[in-house]
Amino acid sequence: MTQIIDLSVHQEHIPVGIRRNLCLNTGKEQYTFYFDLVDCFDIPEPQVLDGFVYGIIFLAMQIRQPLRVHGALSRSAIFNLTEYQSVWACWLPERYKIVEIIPDAIIELSNPNPDRAIAAFSGGIDSTFTAIRHSKRLLGPASYPLDTVLLVHGFDVPLSKEDSFIKLCQRIRPLIDELGLEFKVIRTNLKEASGQNWEDSHGAQLAASLHNFSHAFRYALIGSTDPYNYMCYPWGSSPITDHLLSGDQMRIVHDGAAYSRTDKLAVIAFFPTALKTLKVCWEGPDPEHNCGRCEKCLRTLLNFFALDIDHPPCFDNALKLENIYTIQIRNQTQFYELESIYQHLERREPTEKVLKTKFALDAILKSYKAKQLADEFGQLNRLTQDIKDIAPAFRSKRNTLFKILAQIDTPWLFHEGFKEYIKLKLKHYLKPYPNA
Ligand SMILES: [Zn+2]
Repeated sequence: MTQIIDLSVHQEHIPVGIRRNLCLNTGKEQYTFYFDLVDCFDIPEPQVLDGFVYGIIFLAMQIRQPLRVHGALSRSAIFNLTEYQSVWACWLPERYKIVEIIPDAIIELSNPNPDRAIAAFSGGIDSTFTAIRHSKRLLGPASYPLDTVLLVHGFDVPLSKEDSFIKLCQRIRPLIDELGLEFKVIRTNLKEASGQNWEDSHGAQLAASLHNFSHAFRYALIGSTDPYNYMCYPWGSSPITDHLLSGDQMRIVHDGAAYSRTDKLAVIAFFPTALKTLKVCWEGPDPEHNCGRCEKCLRTLLNFFALDIDHPPCFDNALKLENIYTIQIRNQTQFYELESIYQHLERREPTEKVLKTKFALDAILKSYKAKQLADEFGQLNRLTQDIKDIAPAFRSKRNTLFKILAQIDTPWLFHEGFKEYIKLKLKHYLKPYPNA
């Protein structure tokens, strides 16, 4: 008999507001995830459980069991959940499988909510840009009617770091007040207790938090990460998937993807308070400050430098040229971001500092590319070695095999052959693996 995951939600009053418990029973394990809606004392029980399902959908897709929802889902959430899962099963089929969602009822809701928008807010560049451009109505009638921002405790700041969270609130509050926005806080153990891959699931977990306010807001904004012209995926929040986290009551909007981080800072730079409150660093030792040394801080300093802002007030010190060489690019998103900074610098007057910065950027970009190539060669080497060890006869059949493959997929074979050629050429220079 197929095991089923049971999902139910219970709401209760707690001293600081309202707690919503999301209970999951997989047959083998039981989980309870909570959402504390701080300083909210008068919130109705959720009419549909759309957001709670989004919150654990990656867990369900990993467990690979049908999900029974003890409550209703909205009509559009049912459509979206199927498509959302399809995207992830297509991107990462070994990690995620589409599961059947079985709600008690499917309700068609004509959106009864007032024309209001809430935005996820962390104090970083993306969410600050979104908060500014909609609250200041920079898009005219196309601005969303933003009047509230939501900060989640348990995502960027761990639940155990209560002091850090209070300091973050104090830091960002002047901007929120200046923009005339209401400030809401949710505390949740969802990220910490569910164990869902954060890079994959952060958009869904953020949407789950926002859906707790789906009784009052028609729109929920999530600031974009990658711009349309430099998109990386799979990634947990993108224009491809975020809109699929919507339900009948609340539409999730992925906001700002036509802008790079430098473009966003060019807008933020007109708001002096925002330049002071920006908080981009989650690695530094002091939670109150941007450390100025980690990859994200250095990348942000470079974003500012591309705009000819040498020492932004959210940092204690200006960008030091030698620190650029310490940047360790960890993924394609960071690579694209630094590459776009380089392109911005090409449009600046070529002063000595601009030229030296470009030189340093070029060096770390090339070093990342070289590492990627080395990894690829390493994999090829290991593969070749495996084949040699396991089936020596296979190598003698190689030419026959290549002839067959050439008939099936010539471009692929050409690509593989070219890699092999480059590998042989570089064999004497790159020896990072024992088999090389
Ligand atoms: Zn930092």
